[in-house]
Amino acid sequence: MRKSPRLLLLEHYRTHARSLPWRAPPGTNALPDPYHVWLSEVMLQQTTVATVTPRFAAFLERWPTVEAMAAVPLEDVLSQWAGLGYYARARNLHACAVEVAARGGFPDSEAELRALPGIGDYTAAAVAAIAFGRDAVVVDTNVERVVARYFAIRRPVKDARPEIRRRAAYFYEDVDSGEMAQALMDLGATICRPATPDCAACPLSASCAALASGEPASIPPKPPKKARPERHGTAFVIEKDSAIFLTRRPTKGVLGGMAALPGTDWQDGPAPAGGAPAIRHVFTHFALTLAVESRDVPPAGTEGWWQPKDRLDEAGLPTLYKKALAAFAEREHTPTLLP
Ligand code: SF4
Repeated sequence: MRKSPRLLLLEHYRTHARSLPWRAPPGTNALPDPYHVWLSEVMLQQTTVATVTPRFAAFLERWPTVEAMAAVPLEDVLSQWAGLGYYARARNLHACAVEVAARGGFPDSEAELRALPGIGDYTAAAVAAIAFGRDAVVVDTNVERVVARYFAIRRPVKDARPEIRRRAAYFYEDVDSGEMAQALMDLGATICRPATPDCAACPLSASCAALASGEPASIPPKPPKKARPERHGTAFVIEKDSAIFLTRRPTKGVLGGMAALPGTDWQDGPAPAGGAPAIRHVFTHFALTLAVESRDVPPAGTEGWWQPKDRLDEAGLPTLYKKALAAFAEREHTPTLLP
């Protein structure tokens, strides 16, 4: 009897699974710690496995349990998150840890998980399936691509989501949802890659509609690129003795609650010509030109603190401000400011 594509995929996964620190070994009935699954899933949104792996280990070393994370102030979690980007994730991470600790542990159903801060449809399904062995249809961007190709859905993913989700359910019938979710994610990450699918190595090749069409990489089609709006502003470098003045960004908005250099608000539009030397930083929804200027004293009314220069790496500065300080240090020949 011919094996079903589902079975072929699971067999492939059991022998080729990526070894990831938040996973239980494939093919066993062991369930990984929900705290590890949740933390890794939040970190992996918009961030690669290679970047997440050491940062995941550092988080666990500092906070071995969700209760330990819940017990510290938000600022500690934001500092630990520095450099991972998309800082709303860190704020939600802390809020979620507080709620989970208060209720005595993670809930085990998709619906209850979805009610927690920062947990959307995908993360709720992933935690329920992988950490609790619940039935769930888990669809992340890798799974979307595999499903779109397998069924040759020739519309941009953004428009085809309901159909992709409906079709994805085929893979989850009569199997362990957690194992299938990880099998599909691995396939998308290592074989059914965005630009260069390795169809010769794929366990689904015998029945894949995209491969049969002869142009698997063209599915799903990419939506036309939109121009990114421009913003501009100025950051101030204020030094005193062996310290530098830092502040905290407003809780709401871009880099909310993160340590920062003081500066002006960011205005819409390109930077005016002829200003102070600037750096460029690209956020998801806009590109920022940030001039970096030296000032003698903090702007009136700005709350902040003097961070010793030899402990700048402990301030939890996000990449934008590390870049600004590095550019300033190079320009002014002040290597002590290099974070
Ligand atoms: S056969 Fe090719 S296109 Fe189809 S699922 Fe496998 S890697 Fe992707």
